[in-house]
Parts: sequence; structure tokens; C-alpha cells
Amino acid sequence: MNPKYKRIILKLSGEAMAGEKGIGIDMDTVKTIASQVKAISEMRVETGIVVGGGNFWRGRDSENMDRATSDYMGMLGTVMNALALQDSLENMGVITRVQTAIEMKEVAEPYIRRRAIRHLEKGRVVIFSAGIGNPYFSTDTTAALRAAEISAEVILLAKKGVDGIYDSDPKLNPDAKKFLELSYLEIINKKLKIMDTTATSLCMDNKIPLIVFGIDKPSSMIDVVCGKNIGTKVK
Ligand code: UDP
Repeated sequence: MNPKYKRIILKLSGEAMAGEKGIGIDMDTVKTIASQVKAISEMRVETGIVVGGGNFWRGRDSENMDRATSDYMGMLGTVMNALALQDSLENMGVITRVQTAIEMKEVAEPYIRRRAIRHLEKGRVVIFSAGIGNPYFSTDTTAALRAAEISAEVILLAKKGVDGIYDSDPKLNPDAKKFLELSYLEIINKKLKIMDTTATSLCMDNKIPLIVFGIDKPSSMIDVVCGKNIGTKVK
């Protein structure tokens, strides 16, 4: 199979790293993800990955804590996920760089756009962590921003437990209808909870296509990169 894209942003939610436990990191699950990333990287697809942190902490969920403090905790969670993914990828011989939007140079490189692009050109997988480095944002917004910055052709939004965008929650409604294609405006108008509105409008304004797909099937990442019609396309 031939890849459809030359440069992509893959967004992995924190939940995708947690496996059945739902919290923390399950290294077997990370290994499954890493082997798919290895396959797409070997197809010479320049791959930037934005990792979430919801398996550790979500800023908005802490009721009595200062929101900014809570968000910084969330961003630190994403760094742990990035390091776990890096470790797994490097064990498989994939060359990677983790970049952090909050400087912690003993741990990883700071985010430098031109440097990230250079790594990608050299075939290294770049893992973007610590979100955009500011509270009140999400890692979905980070995916949209990094995609625009590195001129990625598409954002692949990997979801756990669901294989696309539905008109209602398929876990609660057995008659929920899956969309094959949507526009960003429809997402906003129908109030579909796929990404936050900041991320959605950033993608819309910068005309970055998005594919929402399920990560549960082991070949799904490769299928989506090769242009197979799985998941939901958003234009
Ligand atoms: N976060 C933030 N700024 C960012 C990105 C993330 O403050 O630019 C914080 C925020 O608290 C968020 C948490 O990090 O809840 C984890 O990220 P997110 O919820 O996007 O992770 P995911 O749901 O994808 O696992």
C-alpha cells in the first residue's frame, strides 16, 4: 500500500495510551501504537505526533484548584506520555525527538518550529508535548496549531472506543448514525463534541483537513494513512 500523505499530524489522546485500565500508561498498548507509527514512518510519511494527557489529568476536571495550575499539571501529563511513546518507538529502532512547549531541556528539546521541520525531513518522528504551553488550551488545539505550523496535509485524530463522528453517542444510542464526511461548519452548527471550538475553528480557518478514526483495530493507522475510507473526513 502506498501512503496518501507526505506529512501528517497524528493526535493521540491520553486515553489511547491507557489501555483497558483507562488511567496511566499501559506499555503493551503503547507498543501497539508504536508499531503502527513505525510502519507509517517506514513508508516515509513525515510524522508529527501530538499526545494528550487525559489519562493523567484534565485541567477542567479539578473543581477547587486554580485552573491555570491544574492545566499545567495536565500539560506535564502529556510529557510523560510522550516519553513513554518515545521509549517504545526507540526500542523498535525508530528515531524520534520529543519537543516540549514548556522548556525542560534536561528531559527533551524545547519546541522550535524550524527544528521540528528539519527532524521530519530527516525521517525522525517528532512527538510534540506539553500542549501549546499555555493553560486554557487543549491538545486538540495543539494538533491544529502544529499542523498549521509544519504545513501538515492532514490531522489524523485517533479515537479509542469509537471509529468516527456520529450524530449521537454510539455507546448510548445503538441507532447512532456515522458521518462519512462533514464540514467544520457542520461540526460547529450541530454542536458535535469532537474537538473543542478553538481547535475546530483553527482547523477551519487554516483549511486543514481532519480524519477522525478508531485506533482499536491494529491496522487502522496504516489504513487511514493509505487513504482507505475509514472514519469520518472533515473538510
Ligand atoms: N493543556 C493545557 N494547554 C495545552 C494543552 C493541554 O492546559 O495547550 C492541559 C489541559 O488541562 C488538558 C490537559 O493538559 O486538560 C490534557 O490535555 P487534553 O485534555 O487535551 O488531553 P486528551 O484529552 O487528548 O488526553
